[in-house]
Amino acid sequence: MLWLPIFQITANALNPFHKIFKEPCNRTNIPADYKVFTFMIKSNRVPSQNTAFVWFRNDLRVQDQTSLFKAVNSHYRVAGVYCFDRRLTEPGRYGFPKLGSYRRKFLIESLESLKNNLQDLGIPLLLLNGSAQNVLPKAIERLNVNSVFFQEEWTQEESDEIEILKKAFPEIQWHSTYDQFLFHPEDINIPVPEVPEVFTAFRKKVEKKVDVRSSVLPEKKQTDPLHLIDLQDITIDISTIKTNEPPDSRSAFPFKGGEDEALSRLEEYFWKTDGLSRYKYTRNGLIGTEYSSKFSSWLALGCISPITIYHEVKRYEKERIKNQSTYWLVFELIWRDYFKYVSLKHGNKIFMKKGIRDEEKTWRQDEKVIQSWIDGKTADSFINANMIELKKTGWMSNRGRQNIASYFVHNLGQDWRIGAAYFEAMLVDYDVHSNYGNWMYVAGVGNDPRRRVFNTRSQAERYDTNGEFQNRWLQEVLL
Ligand SMILES: Cc1cc2nc3c(=O)[nH]c(=O)nc-3n(C[C@H](O)[C@H](O)[C@H](O)COP(=O)(O)OP(=O)(O)OC[C@H]3O[C@@H](n4cnc5c(N)ncnc54)[C@H](O)[C@@H]3O)c2cc1C
Repeated sequence: MLWLPIFQITANALNPFHKIFKEPCNRTNIPADYKVFTFMIKSNRVPSQNTAFVWFRNDLRVQDQTSLFKAVNSHYRVAGVYCFDRRLTEPGRYGFPKLGSYRRKFLIESLESLKNNLQDLGIPLLLLNGSAQNVLPKAIERLNVNSVFFQEEWTQEESDEIEILKKAFPEIQWHSTYDQFLFHPEDINIPVPEVPEVFTAFRKKVEKKVDVRSSVLPEKKQTDPLHLIDLQDITIDISTIKTNEPPDSRSAFPFKGGEDEALSRLEEYFWKTDGLSRYKYTRNGLIGTEYSSKFSSWLALGCISPITIYHEVKRYEKERIKNQSTYWLVFELIWRDYFKYVSLKHGNKIFMKKGIRDEEKTWRQDEKVIQSWIDGKTADSFINANMIELKKTGWMSNRGRQNIASYFVHNLGQDWRIGAAYFEAMLVDYDVHSNYGNWMYVAGVGNDPRRRVFNTRSQAERYDTNGEFQNRWLQEVLL
């Protein structure tokens, strides 16, 4: 059976995402290997028997998933793999795990959703038990895999991992794609070393000058069944790694992980509540589901792509309303891209005390002070309310994050990397580039040329005028 390449996607009854794909999808940048494959189909030549893995990491979706798209268009048999490395749940450098329980719950829900969506395409998802470098080789050998498709990641641990695997399997074809950007690195016409150090300069170079690519979607196919034999010793049953975080009724973020949930949130925030049309004026809110899009957690794990969101904004602008708010959501997505380009440019510097500015500053690491910040027991009730929200839900608003980070580094004088590591453990939407980029920015070692210190008291008066947010989270403390 052949995988047929699709370069145009139109809405159809089989497509669960038909609402998103109302318009034909013209892929302008078709990689050379697609063209070769088209030739093979036209000439009725059958490609040699082959099996590919799509190695999922922070790209847990089937829609607009370039690795998946390429794999199914060029291989007979395709399986998805995800490596669950339990070491991430153990305490790290500053005592916090990299994968805390909120994100772990969200991740597992996202994997369950991915498994179902892949199943609809006839593709199994193997959940491997261990780090990629330990378990992927075994799966590759046993299933006789000859190609692995994956999203390019460039932070140290991820790129070390891939280098080890490539060395172990030089005969395997490793196909990586940048699939987490709004503006693709090949399209922006800015060599990475020349990425501007100031956001506005970057935005001006891309927002009106670079086309956002179209989404891609693999067609539903019957695969030759892949014999998933002999894998029991390296796979893991998803139910054994589930966590049970009881939901807090005060949460601003009662959402579940997974692609379907991401798409229904998109539908809800844009089309049902018209939240998008008011976004610019509500985005600094602190309470409830609607003040901002809440897309970040799904974006962080790649349950939805920024490209999908972008095209839906454009459709909304055409079919409903185009205003400053619709623009502003895209503006914020450009910030997200920007921090990815900053980390591409500066590499490991984003994790260093001096940051990307090489700024020598004195930071303290006072355990008691840090613990009181974590527990919401500082002298500032606005900070405390935000920190308790984070502890109880894994979520904090953007306004809250700006304030608590500023307070941590400027008022308490603590090492910004510890704040960032705590966020990494706690935030359901943790994203390495956005997190370290924003922390450096607030700490004055990143892309902000000015030293901005938040006056948390006046911020509270402005954004929590009647104290509703503080009452909400400080009730238990005050009783
Ligand atoms: C100290 C600090 C740490 C942060 N850590 C993270 C993190 O780990 N992961 C993360 O996704 N965001 C992080 N942010 C950025 C921002 O707070 C969140 O993206 C935003 O609050 C998520 O809510 P939302 O999806 O409702 O955003 P909306 O306001 O609806 O914005 C839409 C999208 O734009 C992007 N975006 C918005 N603001 C920013 C920003 N300042 N930087 C980068 N992207 C942005 C996000 O992808 C977001 O989902 C951090 C901000 C600070 C100040």
